[in-house]
Order: sequence, then structure tokens, then C-alpha cells
Amino acid sequence: MSKIKIAELFYSIQGEGRYMGVPSVFLRTFGCNFTCDGFGMPRGEQSKERDFIAADIKKFFKYEDLPLVSSGCDSYASWDPRFKDLSPLMETDGIAERIMEILPYKTWVDEHLVITGGEPLLGWQRAYPELLDHVYMKQLKEITFETNGTQPLTPEFKEYLQDWSMQIPGERCVTFSVSAKLPASGENWFDAIRPEVVCEYQEVGIVYLKFVVATAEDVIDAENAVEEFREAGFNGHVYLMPVGGIESVYTLNAKNVALAAMKRGWRYSDRLQVPLFKNEWGT
Ligand code: SF4
Repeated sequence: MSKIKIAELFYSIQGEGRYMGVPSVFLRTFGCNFTCDGFGMPRGEQSKERDFIAADIKKFFKYEDLPLVSSGCDSYASWDPRFKDLSPLMETDGIAERIMEILPYKTWVDEHLVITGGEPLLGWQRAYPELLDHVYMKQLKEITFETNGTQPLTPEFKEYLQDWSMQIPGERCVTFSVSAKLPASGENWFDAIRPEVVCEYQEVGIVYLKFVVATAEDVIDAENAVEEFREAGFNGHVYLMPVGGIESVYTLNAKNVALAAMKRGWRYSDRLQVPLFKNEWGT
């Protein structure tokens, strides 16, 4: 049986993007190809917050005991190898059983499944079909992959998802919420902006871009990125979203981000998990 290393598995409200407000099961897989240490930092500087936390790793026995950060990747423990022991390797059967336990009616009703990370489209692609074919997952109709948009789908997984959607035509839907990383993340443009990868997701389902911005410079970067994606054939919606983390950062940022989105005919995405749940783990 296939196994997936799971950083978090919880039930909450989707706080961002197309499914904002929808009750959702979040499956946060372990591993990422980026580090995004630039978030919340002056350009060119890197956050050291998770290094301080890692230095005290022996103090933390559960993922949800880890401190939240206000700079760098806010889900650092889902990929930094120093925290890997807090993320169990679970068999797909065990994951499906756990999902049934946390769903309010012990079956899928109107909830949607969010497969997030880390970067969920790394090697776990090979294990998802076994999970999605589990008898407990038969009623599931909507899945979102929250991805950084750099990982191509394997031919096998691409075909699997296309078939999965067609099993209940008109009801099943796969969405790719692509949070392409701009220079403010600290990642290199040519590694992070991969239009050819993102355009291929369009052969499977609905795809939208979601840019995390904090400054006018970030918005210009988003414009340049959108131009590249459009030139390559991207035809989905574009969202701007304020930087997450601590609530004061988010609140200062939100209105200007909304205005910047309106000016360009783009969508604004909130981060409902911040005002509702203070961005705690498991939300
Ligand atoms: S791509 Fe996402 S999960 Fe990976 S380091 Fe960046 S913000 Fe964190």
C-alpha cells in the first residue's frame, strides 16, 4: 500500500481563492522544492525565524505546538527536514479513515478536498490515485491542489485525474490553485514562473493564479508574470492576496491589495483563516 508523509490533516473553512468559505478537508503533504525565505523581509534579505525554532526543536512534540512565523514560509514545518519527524508517514487507508473521522457526517456531503503543502505535486502524485480510489472517497466531488506551479503532472496522474473527473460528469471538478512565487518570496524568477507547466494543468481542470503581494513592486512583478502566463496560453482568473502571517501585517495590507486587484480587473483573495482563526495550525 502507498504511503504519504502528512504534515497536517484537518477540517476547516477554505480561507483563500475560488473556494473561499467552503468547508474543506486539508491534506498537507510534506516536502517542497522551495524555501521562500524572502516573505515579509526587505528585498534581498532572508528570514531566519525557522532557524531559531529549529534550534529548539526538542521542545516541540507535535506539529501544532510549533510557533507561527511572521516572515518566510508560514508552513515551514511541512518541508524543512529538521521538522520531518513531526509529520507521520501514513498509508492511504489510514488517511481515508482519518478523513471520515473528521467529516461532520462521516461521509462527503458538500465538503471539498484541498491537497496542499509544502508542494503537493512532488513525488506524492504516485500515491494519490490509491487514496482517491478508496471506498471512503467515492462521494468526493471537488479537489483543489494548492501548488506553486512548478511541478509537471506525470502522464499517469494526468490521465488519472481526467478519468476521475469524468466518472461523475458535470459534478466532479479538479482545481489547481497556483501560487506562483514572485521575487519577494526570495525564489528565482526562472525557477518559479513556469507557464508551460501551469498551462498543462488546464488540460485537467480549472486553473487560477494567486499572487501574494505586499508592495507596489510585487504588483508590478505579478503583472509581468501574468503577461508571461497569458503569452503561453493561460486563460484562467488571477487573484491578488495579501501576505499572511500575523494579523497586523495582513490588516495593513489588505485594502491596497484589493484596490490593486480592482485596477487590473483581477480578483482579490482574502485569507479568512487569519481573522477567523489567527492563522493557527489546523486552520
Ligand atoms: S512554495 Fe509554498 S510551501 Fe514551499 S516554501 Fe514557498 S510558501 Fe512554503
